[in-house]
Amino acid sequence: MSEKKEVKSEQQKTNNLLLISGPCSAETYDQTMGTALLLKELNVVDYFRAGVWKPRTRPGGFQGAGTKALEWLKDVKKETGLKIAVEVANPSHIDDCLKYGVDMIWIGARTSVNPFSVDEIARALQGVKIPVMVKNPVNPDVNLWVGVLERVINAGIDKVYAVHRGFYSFQKSSYSNPPLWEIPIELKRLMPDIPLLCDPSHISGSKNFILSICQHAIDLDVQGFMIESHIAPEKALTDSKQQITPQELGKLWKKLVFKSQFPEKLAHNEKIDKLREQIDEIDKNILDMLSQRMSVVKDLGYLKKQQKITILQIKRWSNIFKDRIEKGQELGLNSEFLKELLEVLHQESIRIQTELKNNKKKQ
Ligand code: PEP
Ligand code: MN
Repeated sequence: MSEKKEVKSEQQKTNNLLLISGPCSAETYDQTMGTALLLKELNVVDYFRAGVWKPRTRPGGFQGAGTKALEWLKDVKKETGLKIAVEVANPSHIDDCLKYGVDMIWIGARTSVNPFSVDEIARALQGVKIPVMVKNPVNPDVNLWVGVLERVINAGIDKVYAVHRGFYSFQKSSYSNPPLWEIPIELKRLMPDIPLLCDPSHISGSKNFILSICQHAIDLDVQGFMIESHIAPEKALTDSKQQITPQELGKLWKKLVFKSQFPEKLAHNEKIDKLREQIDEIDKNILDMLSQRMSVVKDLGYLKKQQKITILQIKRWSNIFKDRIEKGQELGLNSEFLKELLEVLHQESIRIQTELKNNKKKQ
């Protein structure tokens, strides 16, 4: 036992990532305990997760085993020493979790979407000492996510984590909940002190992309993972396609390439600094050029206003779009990137000219 503990602390030193794993739902005593014992064997899991109350799209499905599952989790903790994490959706769930010695709770994606529910939960969190994780709301809106985190922080919770589990999207995607990585990146910018965890299971919706999502998340400097695992995924009552066995989790963990944000004594540090200086200089030039471009756009706007010409000249815009994409591609730039960039540039030009047009004062 003590030997295993040492191995674990060694591993933690090398990757420093928090790992939360366990079944989507605690279904039976044997399934819960069986999964936990295998996870414990891996020596890399910090928290055992299990859904006790399950939000389901339609009535009639398995809605979780409820408080009797908390009894099983108490046993898991006693038997394996793993800490326990459970999803809560209302104040009575929080009371029950505290009664049964749950070590960490989380607010799920279907609850975090509703500020009324979150307010209720936040009131119940006053005085609670355990950490709280906040899954991103299903809507792709970073402010909604920030709002939940703020409410939990304002309730006085010391340790708060954000969990990225992907977003609902109308667009067809291979993922069940496309990751829209720009949103967690923006969250990190807005709330740099909140550790960000990634839940590749709910992003992927299948086993297929879990490894690649985890690796990408590491490259974006996440602080840990919540990964669903089940002793027999094919028999799981919820999220059966996306759960992996504890053995598969062990293999996956070994395949990941862990990275650090600031290598302290790496020989190529100086080289990185030099390249970053170049990037700073190039960005400065890009900003200068953008400013020049927008100032020409303004002059153009005055003329269009004076001569009563429409702001949008679709033929000109189509030509610009085609020409810049061709030129950019010749320079080795990705066409999707070019399209997005040109659209943003054009939107800003239109905005500037519209503002000019609406300004009644003589310019
Ligand atoms: C879960 O973790 O099992 C769950 C229901 O997740 P989410 O809230 O992200 O859908
Ligand atoms: Mn699930």
